[in-house]
Amino acid sequence: MSRARARESFAIGSVRVRPGSARELELPVTRLVTGADVTLPVRVLHGREDGPTVWINAATHGDELVGVEVVRRVLASLSPRTLRGTLIAVPVVNVLGAMTADRYLPDRRDLNRSFPGSPRGSLAARIAHLMMTEVVAKCSVGIDLHTGSDRRTNLPQVRADLDDPRTRQLAEAFGAPVMLHAKLRDGSLRHAAGQVGATVLLYEGGEAWRFDEWAITAGVDGVRRVLAALGMVDAEPGSDDAPPTAGVECRESSWVRARHTGFLHLDVALGQEVAEGERLGHLSNSFGRTLRVVRARRPGIVVGRTEAPLVNSGDALVHVATPA
Ligand SMILES: [Zn+2]
Repeated sequence: MSRARARESFAIGSVRVRPGSARELELPVTRLVTGADVTLPVRVLHGREDGPTVWINAATHGDELVGVEVVRRVLASLSPRTLRGTLIAVPVVNVLGAMTADRYLPDRRDLNRSFPGSPRGSLAARIAHLMMTEVVAKCSVGIDLHTGSDRRTNLPQVRADLDDPRTRQLAEAFGAPVMLHAKLRDGSLRHAAGQVGATVLLYEGGEAWRFDEWAITAGVDGVRRVLAALGMVDAEPGSDDAPPTAGVECRESSWVRARHTGFLHLDVALGQEVAEGERLGHLSNSFGRTLRVVRARRPGIVVGRTEAPLVNSGDALVHVATPA
């Protein structure tokens, strides 16, 4: 008997996925007052050959849809017959928020501050707990896909603990234009998964409520390259799976905020390098009279910017990350 044939089925929820096959299932979360069941849809690809178990997820924030399309395209590119290892895909973690493209859950809780959760807690805590026990606990590596929030758009970037050699290696393999060293946020999926030993990359790209093609493409290519670096798929020479140049490492970043209320005219694009004090745009009144010039407070790369035309004093305008 070959080694591949001896591989065991993969148990998740109430099903077992045979080697070399894919299976969709719905993990039960709770029942609504209407009697409708709430479930977490999952697709598992259990490769014929041994390899690591990895999860990819999107829409922990229900309005961040770029990652949903990233997961769809990555799944379309994979076959359990050739995959080495196992991939668990959770395209929409915040199943209730996503129904109305809402960032939060109906009780206004932020799911990404509710991990590791508990089986008898709030809706957010229950979804978090289910994700932890049925998905994260079975995996050694995970990729959490996000976008900017609240009319802000992000340059494709990986946020990860770059001081951890394993995490760093995979962040480099992802090959987003920027790698931002990010401290762990308590209650986040990334933090809770790290606590139980998983290596986690957080991808940020594009804007909430949008299918930004450039952010989707960068996400798909990055996830595929991580799977190739883990030996789960073959990197085809010359394809986007081949190792790219690692992104620019940044360890500090901050937002330039509005110092006046007004209409915003930004001159800078995502990925653009700016010098300290450089003009980024201006705020005007409704007749076009300039009220304030917006300037960079630090040198660096524009990794995020607001798309809002009208801003209040104190609003975040341009996110600048400084290369290490
Ligand atoms: Zn998010």
